[in-house]
Amino acid sequence: MGVPCVRVEREAGEETRSRLAEADLVAGGYEIVVDEAAIYLPVTDPAEVPADLDVVEYDAPARETQTMPSDEVSFEPSYERIGDVIVIDEDDSERARALADAIMASDLPARTVLNRASKVKGETRVRDWEVLATEDETNPTEVVHREYGCEFALDLAEMYFSPRLATERHRVVEQVAENERTFDMFAGVGPFVIPAAKRGAEAVGVDVNEAAVKYLRENARRNGVEERVTAINADVREVADDYEDWADRLVMNLPHSADEFLDAAVRLAGDDCTLHYYDIQHEDDPYGPGERAVRAAAEPEYDVTVETRHTVRSYAPHELNVVLDVRLTR
Ligand code: SAM
Repeated sequence: MGVPCVRVEREAGEETRSRLAEADLVAGGYEIVVDEAAIYLPVTDPAEVPADLDVVEYDAPARETQTMPSDEVSFEPSYERIGDVIVIDEDDSERARALADAIMASDLPARTVLNRASKVKGETRVRDWEVLATEDETNPTEVVHREYGCEFALDLAEMYFSPRLATERHRVVEQVAENERTFDMFAGVGPFVIPAAKRGAEAVGVDVNEAAVKYLRENARRNGVEERVTAINADVREVADDYEDWADRLVMNLPHSADEFLDAAVRLAGDDCTLHYYDIQHEDDPYGPGERAVRAAAEPEYDVTVETRHTVRSYAPHELNVVLDVRLTR
C-alpha cells in the first residue's frame, strides 16, 4: 500500500528532510527510500506539506524496530553473548524463566539461553549450566564466538571461556611480534594462541583439559594458522622441560594458582622473555603478591622488571583480577 511521500531530487534530500522535521511531518514508522533519481520522504499529513514540495504515493517499507529483552521484562536485564548463546546469572528462578523467554522472543540472535549454575571450579575451571531455552537440543552449549577477527569454536559445558577478557587478550596480543615464540601455559580453546599465531608468532598452547585442546586444534584450522600452532594436552609442568629456554612470551592465565607454576615458567623462559602473569588479589595490595612471587622464582637468574601493572576487572567485593607484564632478562 502506498504511503504519502515527498519526492525530491537526491541533492535536495537532507535539506527537505530538515524542513519536514521542523514542521513535525516526518512519518518515523516508514523507511526513507532512495532510488537513482529521487528520494522519497514519508510524511504524516500530506495536506500540511508546503506547496512547493511534490507529494506522491510511494511503497515505502515500514521501519523495522528491534525488540530487545528489556522490552519484555519489568527489570533491567543483564546478559552476556557468546556467539548465539546468551548467558545470564539469575538466582531467582522466576526471573531467570522470564528473562530466558524475553531473550528468545527478542530480536537478539539467540539459539540457547544458559543460566550460571555454579562458579568456575576444579582444575579445568568449567562451571555447571542450566539450559533455560534452546533451539538446539543436540548441542545447546556448543558455540562459535568471534573476537577481534578470530573465530573460536567451544563448548561451554566442557571448557572454560569468558568473553569478558576480550579487551585484555587484545592488549596482550597487540604486543606479539612476527616470528616470536609465544607459549600459553593454560591455553583453553586458544584465545591468546590463535591471534598470536595470526600475527606471525610460533605459538604453543598447553591445557590439561583434553576437550579444550581438541577445540584449540580445530580453532587453529578454522583461523588458518595450524602451521604455526602446537596444541598439547598435558599438565604444563610436564611439558616445561621439552620447551626449556624456549619462550619469548609466556601467558599465565590461571589467576587463582599461577604462583604454583612459576618454576615451570622460569624453565620455559628464554633469555629475554615477557611474562603476562594474571592474579586475583585484595584491592589493598593487588600487585604486590604477584610481583614478589615472580621475583622469588626468577631472581637471581633473571633481572625482573615489572613493565605494566593493570587491573583487568573487579572480581568480587574488594578483590581484583590483575595482570603484571614482567620482563625477564637473563
Ligand atoms: N587462556 C584461556 C582463556 O583465556 O580462555 C583459558 C584460561 S582458564 C582460566 C585456565 C585453563 O588452564 C583451563 O582451560 C584449565 O583446563 C587449564 N589448566 C589448569 N591447570 C592446568 C595445568 N596444570 N596445566 C595445563 N593447563 C591447566
